[in-house]
Amino acid sequence: MTENLELYDVTFIGGGPAGLYGAFYSGMREMKTKIIDAQNELGGTMLFFLDKMVWDVGAIPALTGRELTDQLVRQARTFDPAIALSQEIVGLERLDDGTFILTSTAGDRHWTKTVIMAIGYGGLRKVRKLEIEGAVRYESSNLYYTVENLEDFRGKRVVISGGGDSAVDWANELEPFAASVTVVNRTDKFKGLERSVSRMKASAAVRTHYQIEMLHSEDGQAIDKVTICHVETGQREQLDTDALIVSHGATYEYGKLRDWGLGIGKDILAVTDKMESQIPGISAAGDFVSYGSKVKLITGAFNDVVLAVNSAKQYIDPHAAKMARISTENARFDELNKQFVNN
Ligand SMILES: Cc1cc2nc3c(=O)[nH]c(=O)nc-3n(C[C@H](O)[C@H](O)[C@H](O)COP(=O)(O)OP(=O)(O)OC[C@H]3O[C@@H](n4cnc5c(N)ncnc54)[C@H](O)[C@@H]3O)c2cc1C
Repeated sequence: MTENLELYDVTFIGGGPAGLYGAFYSGMREMKTKIIDAQNELGGTMLFFLDKMVWDVGAIPALTGRELTDQLVRQARTFDPAIALSQEIVGLERLDDGTFILTSTAGDRHWTKTVIMAIGYGGLRKVRKLEIEGAVRYESSNLYYTVENLEDFRGKRVVISGGGDSAVDWANELEPFAASVTVVNRTDKFKGLERSVSRMKASAAVRTHYQIEMLHSEDGQAIDKVTICHVETGQREQLDTDALIVSHGATYEYGKLRDWGLGIGKDILAVTDKMESQIPGISAAGDFVSYGSKVKLITGAFNDVVLAVNSAKQYIDPHAAKMARISTENARFDELNKQFVNN
């Protein structure tokens, strides 16, 4: 049943920061590598904040999400991994020899000795929508659930509903573009880096303990006002707006992956300190995993995936070194170093 299939040492399900950096690192460990992603391009969640500045990745003072994605993809390609896009993996079969066959929704099959699940919050992310009757009609005009292009908001009075990382980040990113930014949050708690929250509070109008209650539109096409209501006192107020951004998070479903016997919890997978799952040969990394000190950021994904790759390497060869040697000792870099010197 594996005829015509090429066997890989390691296959990453997910081509976000964990899968991309993992593909580079598994190349350093001389493993034949494949990356599969359900989206039609690599980058994972970073594709949702291409215009945002990212400040908190080591050795990179500041880059846009787009630049960071490009750099990670370039680095991931160093050892020429196979890349399969637009393939959502749903099936897993373990063969008698311990190898695995992964199957996509369209029936594509992939043969691999080990699997690294770098699926973030999963392929079936459903944004929590604004629960106000008729809101859906404004989704084609000025009700947004994500910010794709900061320029769309230039000179506008923007209202953001939510208190999570994305709400805070967007408030800060939009501040130089928008005429005004007002953040409406049900509580006085905001998630995100302390510095980002302080910056938002200094530059945006912040209305805590309020929620959006009603949308108004004079022309019936676009929202021009929202009514906000105090969650404790019931006091109401109207805010003029040209753009409403709703950032109420998302729900996640792992669909058929739950049937694999990995022990996926409500949103995530518990792993060992080597990023191993309950199934020998399958490890995991990035936002998908959970352990005591887990950091759900790009930096955390990099660290996890190095451990996951080392586990995969030792699963294939129990005598292999615990980790890769430093990059200067890798023959592939000797060749690449020459190219740098010659350019
Ligand atoms: C708005 C926003 C701003 C952020 N800003 C920052 C920041 O400034 N700094 C920072 O460090 N972090 C930031 N983060 C967090 C960061 O994006 C995540 O921590 C990081 O992307 C996690 O990487 P990952 O590889 O684990 O998962 P993801 O990036 O989510 O990638 C998972 C990939 O797996 C694929 N996939 C899922 N299921 C399947 C399947 N069954 N088959 C095939 N493919 C599948 C998905 O399509 C996706 O491409 C931000 C997040 C958001 C939402």
